[in-house]
Amino acid sequence: MGAGLMPDQTEGGMARERAQMVEQQLRRRGIHDERVLAAMGSVPRERFVADQVRNRAYEDVALPIAEGQSISQPYMVARMTELLAVRPGDRILEIGTGSGYQAAVLATLEAQVTTIERHADLAIAARARLEALGFTDAVDVRIGDGSLGIPGDRFDGIVVTAGAPETPPSLPDQLRDDGRLVVPVGPREIQRLVVVTRHGDTWDERITDECVFVPLVGAAGWPH
Ligand code: SAH
Repeated sequence: MGAGLMPDQTEGGMARERAQMVEQQLRRRGIHDERVLAAMGSVPRERFVADQVRNRAYEDVALPIAEGQSISQPYMVARMTELLAVRPGDRILEIGTGSGYQAAVLATLEAQVTTIERHADLAIAARARLEALGFTDAVDVRIGDGSLGIPGDRFDGIVVTAGAPETPPSLPDQLRDDGRLVVPVGPREIQRLVVVTRHGDTWDERITDECVFVPLVGAAGWPH
């Protein structure tokens, strides 16, 4: 292959691609929250994808990980994070750890993250990546069906990064006052992001962007 066709995979080269991704895929498309843009500009996405697709880490697409699952497109990670409106110190529950990338972005925003993954090998790999990057204290990776959330617990934000047939019914109740739930809802082929905000004992629901996620499989998701 001729010189110049291989993307520059040095740390500097990756940092340049990351900065470009933030400007072209995020800011230009309407992500305005500077803290979210800074977090997306600091987490090394290339560390969360398989070696074979490392050179594609900053492309404007979801990329395959193991078990037929995927790491979401950068824009979608940023958009969901912006909708979650994370404040430093917030307790956030993520359902669908996958590669661990979204959890790293949330931890960079100084959230305390609990993330649940149903595939044990994905959870173990994500835990190792997060530890290597210094997120050990900020992110707790658990293995299991997260579609019911963590009954009895309360969070400032809950993000579901897999598509659900309907809003999992036990999640809105696990929000603290002013807490936000972001979940892709719809048929397997296409969903819309639903944002539920809790105000005391009432819940506001807003339906936003179209999106395509791998299915949420479990008690409050799709059958196996
Ligand atoms: N947030 C991830 C992308 C996740 S892809 C990232 O940043 O890389 C969706 C993930 O949800 C997959 O890994 C899938 O195995 C997981 N998943 C699907 N249903 C689940 C469930 N009921 N509980 C926990 N994880 C689930």
